[in-house]
Order: sequence, then structure tokens, then C-alpha cells
Amino acid sequence: MPALAPLRGRYAPSPTGELHLGNLRTALLAWLFTRIQGGRFVLRIEDLDQPRVNSHATQQIITDLRWLGLDWDEGPDLSGPFAPYTQSERFEIYQHYLECLQASSLVYPCYCSRAELAHAATAPQQGAGDGSRYPGTCRQLTSAQRRRHEAAGRRPSLRIHIPDEYQAHFIDLLAGPQQQSVQQVVGDFILRRADGIFAYQFAVVVDDGLMRINQVVRGIDLLPSTARQIFLFQLLRFPIPTFAHVPLMVDSEGKRLSKRSASAGLAPLREAGYSAAEVIGQLAASCGLAGIGEIMTPSELILRYPQPEYDIITKLIQ
Ligand code: GLU
Repeated sequence: MPALAPLRGRYAPSPTGELHLGNLRTALLAWLFTRIQGGRFVLRIEDLDQPRVNSHATQQIITDLRWLGLDWDEGPDLSGPFAPYTQSERFEIYQHYLECLQASSLVYPCYCSRAELAHAATAPQQGAGDGSRYPGTCRQLTSAQRRRHEAAGRRPSLRIHIPDEYQAHFIDLLAGPQQQSVQQVVGDFILRRADGIFAYQFAVVVDDGLMRINQVVRGIDLLPSTARQIFLFQLLRFPIPTFAHVPLMVDSEGKRLSKRSASAGLAPLREAGYSAAEVIGQLAASCGLAGIGEIMTPSELILRYPQPEYDIITKLIQ
């Protein structure tokens, strides 16, 4: 039997604001899943969408994660064999892999504006009308049509053609068996936006592939993205990681926490005198891994779930 690759997990926050407790709980779980199995943990900063980036957020994320007692082996502040660990410094890498995909002739320019797509989506023949599926408008443009768009000053996004029959199948460690026909659900999706920014779906696959991440633990809001990512992992010939999509934390009214809500982060807890171990205890209790009111460091949480009991975690988390 071939030796198993050493486990490599990651936490990949977008520095658009301070992490809220829900983000911190996801970070704790990603760290726990990796450390429990003796794996290496990577911190990657996903700051491609520069207009949304907050310049102080990266430092604040690092400070908050460290304050909680989480650690990583590779990251923007430590470097490592797959540096850089900040997406805005990886432009040439994405460009290279984009060119590899372009060589497969599955990539094509799309000149549709958001308004046109929204209009197409509400047209009666589009069925669902939720605007989330790209109907393939620019897939068959002739070179004369492309030239006309270019002459009119339109800058295209780049989309990848998904074969109609392609189905992604995977077993999520928490959500169970999953299947998605990418063409039916989202259609040909964007690799690079019209403003030149590489899309999350593409960059995340290039990074997880090159950084040899073989276990992805992240919020369940990203479950529907996974099929698109699996398509790209296969096309780029990267091994497909295992996935565990964890529940999102909700507020007392049952609404998802948002980075815009100032009360949702660590600062107010720190100001109120809570210790890191109290916050870790609360985060662990909020998803079923500890009892209400327990106080513990991240390492104490690991001791509670030694490796042979790893499966228990996936059953406990709620
Ligand atoms: N950067 C994404 C976020 O902050 C997470 C991406 C991922 O874990 O795949 O929501």
C-alpha cells in the first residue's frame, strides 16, 4: 500500500474585517481536525478581492488567532515551503495556471454585464430566474462578435466551459454524500473577473493544490462551491482533498453572524475580561464539543478527543 500523504489542513480567511466568533469557531475546528490527526496547519490570507480588503484586517486576524492559542506551521508571518501565503502576492502563479486551462480551450471570454445577466435570468425561458446560473450566452461568440465587444471597450471576464454531463461526487465528512451537476446549478463559471481579479473558485484550487492541502474544513456556506472546485482540481490534475463543511454560528435570533456587526468579534469579550480559555470553551460548547461553561485551551480540547476518537467529533458537531 502506498504511504498516506501527511495530513495538511488550512484556515483561509478573507481579510475584509475583523473575524467574528463564527469565523473563529471555523478556524478552531479546522485547526482541531488537523492537529488531532498530527497534521500541519497552514494559514492563508485570501485577499484577492482588493476593493473589499481592510488593510488592518490581516494583522488583526493573526493577533486574534494567536490570542486564542491557535498556531500554524506555515503562513504569511512564518513563510514555509509553499510561500507566499497571501493571495495578493500569488498573481503570477494564478496567471500560469490560467494559461494552462486556456490551452485546454475550455476557457472563453464573456462580455455580459451583471445587468444583462440579471435580465437574462428573469426572462421566462430561464426557469428558476434566480440569476445564479450563467446561461452560456458568450460561449459560442464568433470572432467578429468578440471584436465588436472589444471595439466597444468591453472588458471580458473569463469563464470555463463545464460539460453538460459533468457531475461532481464527494463525501463530506459532516454533510455526507454530495452530488452536483455544475452546468445545471451554476453553469460555466468565472475564473477571472472583468476587472482582472482572479475568482475565489479558481485561486482556492490553485492554492490548495500547490500547498498540498488534503483536508479542507470550512463553513457550510461553501458546500455548494465544492463541486466547481472539484472540477478544477481534476482539470489541473491536483489530488482532491477531503472536505468537512462545518455549521455556521448564528446569533440569538438565528441569523448568521456578519463581519459588519462590531459586537460579533473578540474585542468586546477581551474588553469585558474574558480569557482565551473561556472563549475557546464557549466556541467548543456552541458546536457540541464541550459542555456549557467549560473553560479550556485549544490543546486541552485536543486531549479530550484523541486521534482514535476522531470520528466522534464529526458526529458531535452541530
Ligand atoms: N476565504 C474564504 C472566506 O473567508 C474561505 C475560503 C475557503 O475556506 O475555501 O470565506
